[in-house]
Amino acid sequence: MQHPIRSLHHVTATVDDAQQDLDFCLDVLGLRLVKKTVNFDNHNVYHFYYGDETGTPGTIWTTFPYKGWNVPIGTKGVGQVGVTSFSVPEGSLPFWRSRLAAHGITAADAPARCGEPALVFPDPSGLIIELVAAADARAPWTHGGVPEAHAIRGLHSVAMTIDSPKPTVALLERLLGCAVVDESDGRIRLAVNGDRPGHRIDILYGTGGEPARNGIGTVHHVALAISSPDEQRRLRQELIDYGCRVTEVRDRCYFESIYFREPGGVLIEVATMQPGFTLDEPAGELGRALKLPPWEEPKRKAIEEGLPGVST
Ligand code: ZN
Repeated sequence: MQHPIRSLHHVTATVDDAQQDLDFCLDVLGLRLVKKTVNFDNHNVYHFYYGDETGTPGTIWTTFPYKGWNVPIGTKGVGQVGVTSFSVPEGSLPFWRSRLAAHGITAADAPARCGEPALVFPDPSGLIIELVAAADARAPWTHGGVPEAHAIRGLHSVAMTIDSPKPTVALLERLLGCAVVDESDGRIRLAVNGDRPGHRIDILYGTGGEPARNGIGTVHHVALAISSPDEQRRLRQELIDYGCRVTEVRDRCYFESIYFREPGGVLIEVATMQPGFTLDEPAGELGRALKLPPWEEPKRKAIEEGLPGVST
């Protein structure tokens, strides 16, 4: 049976300053801003979506810039996505090392895994980002100031920090259709719908760290892409039968989502692939205007006044 999870969908993080986040993601990483909207649970905070040209599921990095809201700096630890990795072409790490250095960012060689070299560095809020050199057929966004030969292709993987990996692996295998494709000391790699960038989840275990606490500089959740709303509702029931507490289906405008915590504590979202970011603006204009969900539109003036000014 073909399993309904197609790939990663997006990764969402809590960050500090909105302009600093835009500058880093657009001018350093060379991603495209595909949607400028607000946090649907707090319309006084932006929600930025970055990705490839149209924000294809599996390329999307999203942030909530919470500066000024007294949100504490988060604790990186167990029960959380600790590392978000993006895929870049093989041979392009020297380019990235010097590009990052030119922006004042020191990148280190990441620990070797699965035969793929990688650079690791912090984003402006302290999130741990990796660039992994990997074979990846996806087309990059090429207007971000990074040559096509080196541009980010999308998410490569996430690394979740888990105390005891067995129950997490069991759920990922049985319900989400993942398969273990590699194992090394302290790391288990799972892949879904093919072992390739954008389809991988690494589990790091035995790190002995403290429990994670959400806050500035931490990943809030990872989302997986599901092929249809029908499949999503079926999976929701399977998760409930398995003993997970799962939210109702939530309307995120550009996709529909359910959320649950896997046994190791990581918050996982399962998001539909449709309708996507061209729902409310054409592909050529993505990310330029502040877009609000229909139910917030009547409050647009007050919302705009409450948000910090940013330039892209
Ligand atoms: Zn999400």
